[in-house]
Amino acid sequence: MAEAVADLPPVHYRLDFSRAHMRYIGVCLSLPSGATASDTTGWRLSLPAWIPGSYLIRDFAKNLVGMNARTVTGEPVAITPLDQQTWQLPPCDQAIEVRYDVYCADFSVRTAHVDPDHAFFNGSSVFLRVHGLEQQPHSVCLEGAPAHWRVATTLPEVAVDDRGFGDYRADDYEALIDFPVEMGVFEVVRWASAGVPHRMVFSHPHPKTDFARIAQDVSRVCSTEIDFFGEAPFSRYLFLVALDRQGFGGLEHRDSTALIFPRDDLPLIGETEVTPGYQRFLSLCAHEYFHSWNVKRIRPDAFTQLPLARPAHTRLLWLFEGFTSYFDDWMVRRAGLITESAYLEALAQTINRAVRGKGWSRQTLEESSFYAWTRFYQQDENAVNAIVSYYTRGALVALMLDLQLRLRGGSLATVMREIWREFGAKPLPEGEAVERFIERISALSLDDFFERALRGTEPLDFAPLLARFGVNAEPVAESALSSVDAGAIIGGDDSRVAKVQVVFEDRPAAQAGLVSGDEIIAVDGLATSGADWGNRIRRYRAGDAVQLTGFRQGRLHQWTLVLSEPVLNQWRLQLACEVTAVEPEALSRRRDWLAALPSASS
Ligand SMILES: [Zn+2]
Repeated sequence: MAEAVADLPPVHYRLDFSRAHMRYIGVCLSLPSGATASDTTGWRLSLPAWIPGSYLIRDFAKNLVGMNARTVTGEPVAITPLDQQTWQLPPCDQAIEVRYDVYCADFSVRTAHVDPDHAFFNGSSVFLRVHGLEQQPHSVCLEGAPAHWRVATTLPEVAVDDRGFGDYRADDYEALIDFPVEMGVFEVVRWASAGVPHRMVFSHPHPKTDFARIAQDVSRVCSTEIDFFGEAPFSRYLFLVALDRQGFGGLEHRDSTALIFPRDDLPLIGETEVTPGYQRFLSLCAHEYFHSWNVKRIRPDAFTQLPLARPAHTRLLWLFEGFTSYFDDWMVRRAGLITESAYLEALAQTINRAVRGKGWSRQTLEESSFYAWTRFYQQDENAVNAIVSYYTRGALVALMLDLQLRLRGGSLATVMREIWREFGAKPLPEGEAVERFIERISALSLDDFFERALRGTEPLDFAPLLARFGVNAEPVAESALSSVDAGAIIGGDDSRVAKVQVVFEDRPAAQAGLVSGDEIIAVDGLATSGADWGNRIRRYRAGDAVQLTGFRQGRLHQWTLVLSEPVLNQWRLQLACEVTAVEPEALSRRRDWLAALPSASS
């Protein structure tokens, strides 16, 4: 892209929140006069089709309403659409104002959501890109919001009032769209980790939420991660936490993150336990925070100068998402917030998502990463048979790598710190560069391992490795409640039919001819339903042939389902000393791997 032009004013956006009741953000974009583009070819404007960190074409431009343009003296300027998200203005020797509304009704971390209570937006949903001026400074003025609202963002302030309204400024367009903004009424907690100021903003929390406890716990995670990498890559950090009845998600940014989390899973004052829900919150914070290093700064070549109009392809998401998924739970353990057993349970859940179904035998990790846009982000009911997750199998690869390195006196932590030093400020090339780098840092030959792990479709044999760290891995059935396998996920909330939701390849339901969408109304002549199916099938034994009656596209069908023994394709991880005797070396290795670190300075 072009270099910044010294004598041009910043590209300026005025955002008006006075019609929040209509879910609108009113935008006025000021285009300067005197630039080459305005005089000769005219301005070209576009909105991103996707947001970095979320690999799906989302067509944000569909939410723009009533776009029009005028010169500063009020003359109309024609706008010609070039495609679904790009517009052309004619040459003009005057400054131009482009106005449009953005309709904001998506309650997610990826887009924008506005109502009379609050506004949240990502710049990729709101700010039109001015082609040719991407490297210019971009300034933003926030105005027109209700008097009791405040602003939370790390977009650099220029001149704002004590509520945060006023003028902000980003160095360039890429920076501009990397600072999510929350406005409204919220709770704020503050702390310093390694001397760096941190804030966590809670929108619509339960009034009795124990904010101080959460701040203390998350600050330990942050300090642990800063110690891990050796430095904080930002001068301040902001967690934006949007609370809801349910929902779960996070999106990473350069010095902030936007999260959605269930309100009732956060601890209330007086509660001291780390519930599974709260553990999930801590892991989510650890995950997005880890991305500040791993993917926001250590990033693939394909993610520099992003073509936000079309997908950016990388085969390395196993590193960016998989390794981050391995380290998120591990950081919560290292920060001393959960027990070793609770950590192993979380690790087992990650592994079990990776090994369920047959997807890992049909797609390699590199393919999973490359096809993220159309496969991982657009999963259907056959995904368990067809694709593997770069998150979960990537985490399993990280685990195995970490344990192999630890057996030889190293660790993946040391390797990550070296990757940070080497690639923190320069793009990470596609291909095997990072594999060779890890080999060089660890002085190990890992060629075979990477070949199998990243470009192979075989099971990964992690249990013997875990055994050497005093962790017993035992294969178990998907459902501890049932002594038979039907080879399908069948259920739903319909009180008249049990719906076939997922059919696992080569297992009883598939052999019986059931397909997803089939509706079962009776088992051996007795009525069933979504809620009842499990109880009914549980009373049979492996080898029993069960007569099912139901509908496919409204036509009556009969199936004979021959139940089999449960498939032992899931794993239970336990501290070996609780199960069997364990050698002292294994205990010492486990201590090095999993002991809580002395409370990091905060
Ligand atoms: Zn992630």
